[in-house]
Amino acid sequence: MALTIFQKIFGSRNERMLKQYRKIAQKINEYEASFAELTDEALQQKTTEFKAAIVAGSSLDEILPEAFAVVREAGKRVFGMRHYDVQMMGGMALHEGRIAEMRTGEGKTLVATLPVYLNALTGEGVHVITVNDYLAKRDSEWMGRLFEFLGLSTGVILSGQSQQEKQLAYSMDVTYGTNNEFGFDYLRDNMAIFSAEKVMRGQNFAVIDEVDSILIDEARTPLIISGPAEDKAELYRKINPLIQHLEQGVEDEETKDSSGDFTIDVKSKQIHLTDQGHAKVEELLVEEDILNADESLYDAVNIGLMIHVNAALRANLLFEKDRDYIVEDNEVVIIDEFTGRKMSGRRWSEGLHQAIEAKEDVAIQQESQTFASITFQNYFRQYHKLAGMTGTADTEAGEFLSTYNLEVVVIPPNKMPQRKDLADLVYLDMEGKFAAIVNDIRTITATQQPILVGTASIEMSELLSRLLTDSEIKHSVLNAKHHENEAHIVANAGQPGAVTIATNMAGRGTDIVLGGSLEIEMEALGELTDEQKADVTQAWQARHDAVLSYGGLMVIGSERHESRRIDNQLRGRSGRQGDAGVTRFYLSLDDDLMRRFASDKVKSMMKRLGMSSEEAIEHTMVSKSIQRAQKQVERLHQDERANLLKFDDISNEQRKVVYAQRNELMEADDVTDVLDDLREQIVEKLVANYVPKGSLDEQWDIPGLQRAIHEELGAEFDIQSWLDADKDLYEETLVTKLLSELEDIYKTKMAVVDPKTRHHFEKEVLLRTIDKQWREHLSEMDYLRKGIHLRGYAQKDPFQEYRRESRGMFTNFLQEVMFETVKVLSLVQIEGAKDVEEFDEQNAANRPQHLDASHPAAASISDAMHESSLETSEKIMDNGGEEAEGTFKRETPKVGRNDPCPCGSGKKYKQCCGKLS
Ligand code: ADP
Ligand code: MG
Repeated sequence: MALTIFQKIFGSRNERMLKQYRKIAQKINEYEASFAELTDEALQQKTTEFKAAIVAGSSLDEILPEAFAVVREAGKRVFGMRHYDVQMMGGMALHEGRIAEMRTGEGKTLVATLPVYLNALTGEGVHVITVNDYLAKRDSEWMGRLFEFLGLSTGVILSGQSQQEKQLAYSMDVTYGTNNEFGFDYLRDNMAIFSAEKVMRGQNFAVIDEVDSILIDEARTPLIISGPAEDKAELYRKINPLIQHLEQGVEDEETKDSSGDFTIDVKSKQIHLTDQGHAKVEELLVEEDILNADESLYDAVNIGLMIHVNAALRANLLFEKDRDYIVEDNEVVIIDEFTGRKMSGRRWSEGLHQAIEAKEDVAIQQESQTFASITFQNYFRQYHKLAGMTGTADTEAGEFLSTYNLEVVVIPPNKMPQRKDLADLVYLDMEGKFAAIVNDIRTITATQQPILVGTASIEMSELLSRLLTDSEIKHSVLNAKHHENEAHIVANAGQPGAVTIATNMAGRGTDIVLGGSLEIEMEALGELTDEQKADVTQAWQARHDAVLSYGGLMVIGSERHESRRIDNQLRGRSGRQGDAGVTRFYLSLDDDLMRRFASDKVKSMMKRLGMSSEEAIEHTMVSKSIQRAQKQVERLHQDERANLLKFDDISNEQRKVVYAQRNELMEADDVTDVLDDLREQIVEKLVANYVPKGSLDEQWDIPGLQRAIHEELGAEFDIQSWLDADKDLYEETLVTKLLSELEDIYKTKMAVVDPKTRHHFEKEVLLRTIDKQWREHLSEMDYLRKGIHLRGYAQKDPFQEYRRESRGMFTNFLQEVMFETVKVLSLVQIEGAKDVEEFDEQNAANRPQHLDASHPAAASISDAMHESSLETSEKIMDNGGEEAEGTFKRETPKVGRNDPCPCGSGKKYKQCCGKLS
């Protein structure tokens, strides 16, 4: 009820927008005749005129009709393609920062040129985002001709480009690239030490092609730049045997009290320790020297340990060899619980995989540490204006609006679609299904109708290919590994009699032209006379018409995908631009989706009907339960994304602060003021710790202060003798005196280098310290996020807890940056500019573009980069001050757990900042 009302309103809103767009399209059409008269030069001159108008204060909306008309005219001259009116309307939706839903084959690549041209006129840069490098390159070259004709520059960013190539590409008016590459460049830019290393110009306007793939499907996993983490294999091995000392208990239904050490919740695959079990685990950990006697597993500082214990519990009590996993070649390989297939290369998260490796006594693989990360949601929300296009957005309209503030506008097709979507055929089992598919393919190809078979996995593609080979049916196979090659095969999937098997992702973005791609054919033929060209074209036209008469492209879905949208994408391959076409899905009760969600009821019904393997049913109950199953999975994934985003929003706030600060520091010529300020804060804190405000002389801990000053700032002062000599020295004046002494020492030390070198060096140390601490902060946050649900049953909302604790961690991170930066600069010994140069050179080899970036989390980082900044600065110190050695390797200021906290809170360190470090 509510939905229909919503749809009514939504539908009419869509209609209203289209009406508006149609009006503007009319206006654009009015320019057409006169623009057709213009010489190329006069047409190109328009770009200059528009730019001037914008400078003079015209808005982009005002010049839109004329600008779109210019692009259309240029399109006619450059490509011989005239933007259709509906394409104009799509372009308007994009310019307004919306999602234009336009079917496959409607020419979205060309649509994008309209808003891209218009928005590039401001000179702030426009990004066009596609799903793979091949498409980025293809579209930039293809559409680049149009932009070039109109006097705008085009670039493309590709993975593996050099910094210079990237910078050049980003400096262009229009930059094409993939979502991953844009995201990684953003992260890498924020790991740069000098502004000259940065490649991007900012996030102005982005048009995302296949926007649902990028903002929905890929948004479940964040972009991560990572490297190997600390080796914890020992810990896993030590914790594993402890589990056998624990006894399973049962929960009393009524009182909810449990006996024993733990209870198992089979449904959620979780294990809960009872109070007794908890105490026992702590005892065992203390015995093993893993935990200090006075600490609890629930302390924030031990959240990492808690995760290990939990992983070991689950590994030993819930996961069974040869059911959940197998051990093969000294490795633990996951078995998919629904399909029983091996999932090589996949690993369980949160330390579970390592815990099982410990249990099976095989090699424990290292975890990785996050260096920088961002979700696509938060990367793309940074753009001043965002727009997207796809053939399938409507089913996800709600999420687009709530997450990205992107409204979906459904643009009508240029020609009414002629495609026939036949009802699903459901078979009892996989054999029956595939036999039917092969049979039908044989019958259909005999008529020369081209067929595209979509599969949900590479394995299924291969299986089908074998069956077709056995039946001597000629076919090609694609599986989304080699985009370029594939694009060529897909382009020819419309040839008479062609049979093409493709995974859902394969060859996306490439149009299937009935009769094959004329362009590719021409290209392959090389230089041709006009006459030959006409012949080739004529032959193609005949072929094209023939395929149309056979019924157009037949799409066979060999399985339903988890998401209805992906199924629609597959269907959309057929019937482009009003072509004829047919689609049908073949299902079996053995399919993943059916096994997981729909099978029982349907199976019993099919049995009741006494069906055999070869028979199929077309029944609304089946279609309905499939749809229900798909909706269920879609919702599951949506929750996953929402949850990811909820947590990432917190990191995002911190990331924004850090990146903004970092940028400001990077742009500054000189950070001396900042450093002076940091030093002052540290001295104030130290003094406040040992000489509390308003305290009596006898409460002062002067030896302690001397020690701390030496420790943190490397200076040896006889503060007691200052006090003896000057009765007027009290807390505040003491701070002043300490600061002026410290400054003198520092100035003298730095005098060996010229001011420019000094500033350069100071900045570098500051930024590298921020980076190192940020990395540590990120991995602590990671741990916190993974472990926070373990506290769920302590009656606390994990998310609130996460928010609260991460705030504390962030404060701690800032403290660490402050202490460490000042400390490095205080302790470092420089003998001349040569040392700084050397320092630079060492770091230059470690620029972030050498990082191995990954999505999702995996991969490694070059070893060079892994040597952190501090280890590098340590090298300089080793040349100079001996004393500095050793003090440097510590991650946190050396404060005893029972000492007063150096942050000046007055609490003990372990109860304050030490809690979190
Ligand atoms: P989509 O991305 O919407 O699926 P494409 O951008 O791949 O579609 O375009 C499909 C095909 O339509 C391409 O071969 C393109 O050259 C052609 N095309 C697009 N717009 C026009 C037009 N206005 N006139 C003629 N052909 C067009
Ligand atoms: Mg496309």
